Amino acid sequence: MINTLDFLSHNPEQTRRIGMRLGAVLQAGDLICLQGDLGAGKTTFVQGIAQGWSSLDSVSSPTFILVNIYRRNDQSRLFHMDAYRLDSTPEAEELDLDSMLAEGALIVEWPERMAGIIPAERLWVNLEHVTDEEREMKFNAHGKRYVELLEVIQHAIAGDH
Ligand code: ADP
Ligand code: MG
Repeated sequence: MINTLDFLSHNPEQTRRIGMRLGAVLQAGDLICLQGDLGAGKTTFVQGIAQGWSSLDSVSSPTFILVNIYRRNDQSRLFHMDAYRLDSTPEAEELDLDSMLAEGALIVEWPERMAGIIPAERLWVNLEHVTDEEREMKFNAHGKRYVELLEVIQHAIAGDH
């Protein structure tokens, strides 16, 4: 059983493809945290996740509204949160993560800005700029469900040549 995975993405399309494979298996209650500087590829990864999840809506950066909600044909929901503009823990506490997770999967950009309210069980991804087109992606699984998701990602990476 592994709980960490280190991967070098060579271009945005590859980041999207890995995201698609993850998106295809996401279920209500799944929490994906994406940490990394501006331009690290968080939203690009979310675009792949939403596509793999069969979203009817396109992904945009939830800059002013904190949470985007994506739909698909079966009534399920995918929540995409960007905590960049959060500047206090009380503000973060207003966000009802539990109700979102009860209804769908939740992806959070800038999760470290709301560290106090992030559940212990999650997939945590660190993205880092390496060169123009290369991004390092470090996956950390916290909890049994997330070890499963890590295996999906591992297979996606192994098949992506
Ligand atoms: P963030 O949400 O972390 O600020 P974005 O996904 O919005 O980042 O932007 C990442 C930018 O870097 C995009 O313009 C994308 O095309 C570019 N990019 C270049 N190489 C990669 C890669 N390997 N993976 C993801 N994005 C990449
Ligand atoms: Mg972004």
